Amino acid sequence: MSDCLFCHIIAGDIPATIVYEDEFVLAFRDINPQAPVHHLIIPRNHIATINDLAPENAAVIGKMYLAAKHLAAEEGIAESGYRAVMNCGQAAGQTVFHIHLHLLGGRSLQWPPG
Ligand code: AMP
Ligand code: ZN
Repeated sequence: MSDCLFCHIIAGDIPATIVYEDEFVLAFRDINPQAPVHHLIIPRNHIATINDLAPENAAVIGKMYLAAKHLAAEEGIAESGYRAVMNCGQAAGQTVFHIHLHLLGGRSLQWPPG
């Protein structure tokens, strides 16, 4: 998608601090971190929101969580705990319409979120 910020990051047109990548997903540091660890994990294929998921996207969602698990271990937060969440739509605060898993950790996280 030519007008999608995260597709531009995948293409290398917009810089990001890449922390993990494989054939299916890319992960990079959030530009406005909300916790000591705040990474975004995105599929290489453009999917706007959870509402746009199709059955053939099921595997990449699993790959995103496997990347979160890998990064949590690498960041040393696997045992202390972390959150891996996706916002969907305006009321949930989604601002970039290319799905992304937020990996947040390194501090105590409140529940429920605001
Ligand atoms: P959401 O509000 O769930 O759509 O999350 C979008 C996230 O993308 C926010 O946490 C932003 O800080 C982050 N973000 C926006 N632009 C960039 C960028 N150029 N590089 C890294 N993270 C970004
Ligand atoms: Zn995109």
